[in-house]
Amino acid sequence: MSVLDEELIKVANLFGSEDAVAVVRSLKKIGEATDEIIANDLKTVKEVRLNSVRKILYKLYDHGLVSCTRVRDEKTGWFIFYWRLQPDQLDAFIRSRKKRALDKLKQRLDFERNHTFFVCKTDLDIRVTFEEGMESSFKCAKCANQLESSENAGMITVLEARVQKLEAELSR
Ligand SMILES: [Zn+2]
Repeated sequence: MSVLDEELIKVANLFGSEDAVAVVRSLKKIGEATDEIIANDLKTVKEVRLNSVRKILYKLYDHGLVSCTRVRDEKTGWFIFYWRLQPDQLDAFIRSRKKRALDKLKQRLDFERNHTFFVCKTDLDIRVTFEEGMESSFKCAKCANQLESSENAGMITVLEARVQKLEAELSR
């Protein structure tokens, strides 16, 4: 799978379903297609109802990820819609999501760097800052055991690596 393919699948996943991924894949393969062509193409992989295909296309269209050309059917007089992926828009969409993720990661990293943490040896979900620990005399809110200070250097290393990776991806 190429990078674009992977990104495409990630984006389609954001739209909530395997069906969306299938529609995006199909559209990428065919290039330009009507909802019926897509639904037919999908039949070989998985059954997606025409109605679902349409809903997914409208959602992608709302986010500017697909474009649409209207052609009037000369026999019926109805409009036929041809859909096509918008790779540039897709790229912009992915970048803006990555930027948001990067901001959040940086905030988290700052928080980890600027605080000391205390944990309960029994309740793994209990983790408080020094300030929060002070308020409860360093007793666990669940089992009332004494909290112990916890090293977060490992966590900081992981966060730093993720920040670096995202920054590198965004600088391309
Ligand atoms: Zn506890």
